[in-house]
Amino acid sequence: MSPKQINEFRRLLEAKKNELLAGGSDREEILIENAAEDFDRLQQQLNREVAIRNLDRESKLLKEVQAALNRIEDGSYGICLRCEEEIPEKRLRALPWAAYCVSCQEAIDRMRADGEVVDESTDNSELAAA
Ligand SMILES: [Zn+2]
Repeated sequence: MSPKQINEFRRLLEAKKNELLAGGSDREEILIENAAEDFDRLQQQLNREVAIRNLDRESKLLKEVQAALNRIEDGSYGICLRCEEEIPEKRLRALPWAAYCVSCQEAIDRMRADGEVVDESTDNSELAAA
């Protein structure tokens, strides 16, 4: 991949990172405490649960984006972490923080479905507790 392309992906990743760091309206839902009338409480609680789930997903994505930026820094960006083949540019355009090529990602998803944890970015705490 040319330095020009790398720079382009770096910009994409930085933009995504800033977007995630800035957060959305979801974050406000969590901060609202007892502001509404009682009959709104249930709805508010539901909103908060949805918002927390979204935040959880966002923080995972933020980790992936940051990891991709780190790979740009150390020169390994665009190389599949599993088979060390180049990740096709088309895939990176769709998913700039992709760490694996399509076939490895599919293999990992399959293993994950079988309960095997294969990458260190996965939180092991649940399995450790089991
Ligand atoms: Zn691969």
